[in-house]
Amino acid sequence: MLIRVLGSAAGGGFPQWNCGCPNCRGVRGGSIRASARTQECVAVSADGESAWVLLNCSPEIRSQIESFPPLHPRGPRDSPIAAIVLTNGDLDHCLGLLSLRESHRLTVYATDAVQRGFTRGNVLYRTLERFPGQVTWRLMKIGCAEAIVDADGRPTGLTAEAIVTPGKPPVHLEEQKSPEPEDSVGVCVREVRTGRVLAYLSGVASITDDVRRALTGADAVFFDGTFWSSDELPAQGLGSKRAEQMAHLPVAGPNGSLAQLAGVRAGRRIYIHVNNTNPMLREDSSERAAVTAAGWDVAWDGMEVRL
Ligand SMILES: [Zn+2]
Ligand SMILES: [Zn+2]
Repeated sequence: MLIRVLGSAAGGGFPQWNCGCPNCRGVRGGSIRASARTQECVAVSADGESAWVLLNCSPEIRSQIESFPPLHPRGPRDSPIAAIVLTNGDLDHCLGLLSLRESHRLTVYATDAVQRGFTRGNVLYRTLERFPGQVTWRLMKIGCAEAIVDADGRPTGLTAEAIVTPGKPPVHLEEQKSPEPEDSVGVCVREVRTGRVLAYLSGVASITDDVRRALTGADAVFFDGTFWSSDELPAQGLGSKRAEQMAHLPVAGPNGSLAQLAGVRAGRRIYIHVNNTNPMLREDSSERAAVTAAGWDVAWDGMEVRL
């Protein structure tokens, strides 16, 4: 299995268009050791060449596809993207679907809650209903491994299993619906031939037994690295919400993911969905050193992991 990180930042990207925080100013001006990142999206292929599965579909999907030649068309109208898996309905995770509208058949895996949130009452979704069968939704049920197939039903050699990760509905639906467990999931992607497992949990508000089980024994773990600390935004004058109120467990602190996951047995450990304010984005920061010392990497755009 080949995992290619197309985008590694949280919503807004790095730098974020309206952000003048020290990190965003520093990366624009080249005065800090950090590289720019697009919003989270990861491509996975069993053979590393064909039948790519996208984990989430960011608003930057067009440039992300162009950035990675194996995702380019092999014919006049073609895409090696076999299927797309959505982990929640946040716009940074699914808005890119609307950009893949050029009369191409798509297969999208999501929970019922995420599908409803994206399609119901969404007048823009009609652009993906231009012809019958333009989008095939395949519902992910918690705890059931589903074979990932393309629009013609051909297998990709991968299965996906949704894991409940404590989260919340997307901001634009918070007033419209009550929260439900399937609003936000992680996904365990397994290569059928080798049994290798990628545990992909990019939005996690707290660590539950389900989360721990999903991580234990995985060959690679991608985990929520949005915020370093609970008060990261208020401390920089960038809003009033703490990390937990945005359904992201911070990396640091006695209850942070670094401490809580120290004992979990897993192969590669990688933080992804990193917010532009997070000090671990700076390669020479003490925060980055702490993460590295604990055996974690911080994902970057273009990173590849082969399992
Ligand atoms: Zn996000
Ligand atoms: Zn910023």
